[in-house]
Formats: sequence, structure tokens, C-alpha cells
Amino acid sequence: MLTLFTINTCKSFGCRNLGLPVSACADYSWPDYRLGYPALHCRACGSYPPLFDELQFNEWLSAYLSDYASEYGHFCPECYRKEIICYGHNPRGTQRVQCRACRKVWTPKRQKQRKVVPPESIETVSLIVPFQGNSSEQKLYVLISFDAVSGSVLHISTNFTQHLVGETLRYRWRGIIEPDLHHSDIVNRVDMREIQFLRRSQFDEIQYGSAMLKRNARGAILRPVIAAHGHFRVLNILFPQVKTHVISHECFLRGAVITAWADLFRQREGGLWYIEEEMNESESDIPWTFLSKTQHGWWQTQWQLWGQGENRRMVCPLTGGDKCNAKMLSLRASRYFRRWLNGQDEFSHSAKLSAGRLMQIFISLAHKYNDKLPQTSGE
Ligand SMILES: [Zn+2]
Ligand SMILES: [Zn+2]
Repeated sequence: MLTLFTINTCKSFGCRNLGLPVSACADYSWPDYRLGYPALHCRACGSYPPLFDELQFNEWLSAYLSDYASEYGHFCPECYRKEIICYGHNPRGTQRVQCRACRKVWTPKRQKQRKVVPPESIETVSLIVPFQGNSSEQKLYVLISFDAVSGSVLHISTNFTQHLVGETLRYRWRGIIEPDLHHSDIVNRVDMREIQFLRRSQFDEIQYGSAMLKRNARGAILRPVIAAHGHFRVLNILFPQVKTHVISHECFLRGAVITAWADLFRQREGGLWYIEEEMNESESDIPWTFLSKTQHGWWQTQWQLWGQGENRRMVCPLTGGDKCNAKMLSLRASRYFRRWLNGQDEFSHSAKLSAGRLMQIFISLAHKYNDKLPQTSGE
């Protein structure tokens, strides 16, 4: 059975076409080159999201999802449904499971499962980490999502993939990195970042550095936007009902989240927020106070500046969220994780590891981190 995942769709919050595939929507025209790249034009809201090769995307995504499912057993590697029953043991005594929908039987590679408790809110950030490729200091794009409340890592992925990928999905480094955001002021940095998005050949085409694998290495490096769509599809299958998402300031993360949970967002049931932080002193118990409001960039997004002593936080509701919520949101889970990560030997030697090995190290570090967290009561 072939499940098709939509990637070419309107991604505007508030548009009636949000998340609808081209086959189900009369308001689209494509390809449209008005912005200089092939885009889908949504006539209902006037947006021009870049077009993807949907077939190549689905070929890679189905391989990626099947691989994840065979490893963990949280959903079916064939049809991606979650109704799974225990189905005896194989001759070596390991547990087999069966999908109740399509009857597929398989043996998850990881037998010891941590119970997956649906989070109230998911926090996602990106990291750029050096690896050893065809020369030193190649860069891997890493996405990490956390349960924003318990702090545990929910999913970690990189733009390295072992699966076959079509040409249009591959990352192409053109030799010019996006300029660093030198501004000391957090409000100016948000503004500069919006300018970076506009300078890209298309909004989702980040140029973050060279990422050449070793000669003859298996696998490929994906465009980060493709890795992001894969990343959030896994989380959406695991947690279809999560209504609050916090992401760092990157426009294609916004697009990937809103596409994966499009049904919820179309019904205006979800909240999606950009957050940027500048922590100049350790966080205290003093409440954060609202300081000012600003507008930035092409989309004229509204940002709120919050302060606590020397600490600053910028919060941008992408789906019309309210201020009470803004006060509660942060990048705390990822902040703690990164502090811990920097103390791990395996991580500090990342520049000597291949991309594939680094990916494995990241997954094992995430498990180690989760195991050391206090167990939540599971309510
Ligand atoms: Zn639209
Ligand atoms: Zn199935």
C-alpha cells in the first residue's frame, strides 16, 4: 500500500487550502516562476511556496519512515499505522509484532522500549556539527525535538541519509555561507535573520556550509528542508494530536511543522511559535516581563520582546497565539540538552567521525540523556 505524503501545498496559516494536496484544490496554479523559482501559487492567500519533486520526496520519505519503524516498532513499516499487537517470538526469543491494519509482521531491532508519552508541547531546534568527509570540517545539519515539559529528546535526525535519494533532494553547496549574525542585540538579530531568508535563492534553500561525504561513502546529504519534512512526519505519526510547537527562527521549519499537522492548523487548533533566546545569566525565578513589540521581514511577523534581568527572549506567534502563552514558552529543554551535550566526549570529537557514525552517536547520546532524566509519572 502506498501512502502519499503531501509536500506541495499551501503553507499559510489561516488559508482554507492549508495542507491540501494539488489534486484536491482548484485554487492552485503551478509551476509559477514569479519569485524566480518554480512555485505553487495559492490564489486564495496569494502565497508562493517552492515546489518539490513530490515523487522523489515520497520515495525517500517512505524508506525513511519504514527504517524508523523497523528500528523502534512504534508504528507499521508498511502502512505507518500505530495499532500494533505482540505476535509471538522469533526463534531467538525476540518479540515479534503485527500491524492490525495491514497484518505486516516484523521484529523491531530495539527490543527495550521506553514508553512513549505524548507531549503537550514539542520544542525543536537545529544544530550544525562538523564531521569528517572528503576533507575535514564538513558540516552536518541536525534537528532535535524535545518534550518541552519533561525535557526528553523525542526525535533526532540529520540531513545525512542512507537511503537512495533523487537528485532534487540533495544538498548543493554553492560556496557562499549566509553571513553571521554579529549583532549584539537580539532584536537586530531577528531582523537580520529575516533578511537572510530573503537573500536565499528560495526561502527554504539554506546554505550552511560544505557537506561532502567521504569518497565512496554510502548515503547522501539531503537539503535541510527535506530532512525537516521527514523529521516532523515521524513526530506527526507518533503524536498526531500535539497542539503546541516551539521552533527556532527558521522559515522552513515553520513550513514543515505546519504541513505535517496541517489538519489541526487548518481547524485553528494548533499553536506554532518562533523563539529566540539570549541568556546572559542563569535563569532565575523572577517572572519574565513583556518589554516591547516589533515587526520584521517579508511576512511582517509580530515579535514580542521579553526580559528577565539580563536575559532576553523574542517570541513570535505564527498562528495568532496569545500573550499568556508567550510568557510560558521558552527553549529551555534544548538549552539544557546542549549544555549536557557539550560535556560529552563522543560529541566533542565529532569532526573526526563520518556522517553516518556521527548520526549513530547522536541517537545513542539522546538515549543516554533520556535515561538520566527523572522519569515522569506518565500522566
Ligand atoms: Zn493559501
Ligand atoms: Zn500496517
